[in-house]
Amino acid sequence: MNNYLRPHHGMCFQFYEGKGYSEDFTDHMGRIIREMEADPAQKIQLKVETDIVCENCPNNEAGVCSTADKVKRYDEAVLKACDLAEGEEISFAEFTKLVRDKIINAGIRSDICGDCSWDYICSAK
Ligand code: SF4
Repeated sequence: MNNYLRPHHGMCFQFYEGKGYSEDFTDHMGRIIREMEADPAQKIQLKVETDIVCENCPNNEAGVCSTADKVKRYDEAVLKACDLAEGEEISFAEFTKLVRDKIINAGIRSDICGDCSWDYICSAK
């Protein structure tokens, strides 16, 4: 498994409850979250491009997200809020803590991705 992660997926992971674009996609995402949580010290590399989560997504069109501009905006906002740079390597645990502290607990999650089709799940928590 490659260790690329789109920065905004650090937010999606916090709210995952088994829903997604297809059954294949949600099974795959659940497996990735379990694997990362089982080894939180593992390094991930933050990339603003399709990543391990995108692999099984029906919106992944030959390696390019069909909502590329929108998700790029989310990714860049997460990097900025967490004071991180694209290409940076960081442990899964450190990245998760930054997303929690700087975005979710800071109350700016919906400013970043409030126009996502799954926002109703994250807004309810
Ligand atoms: S391809 Fe796009 S919609 Fe699908 S998981 Fe990746 S970023 Fe999200």
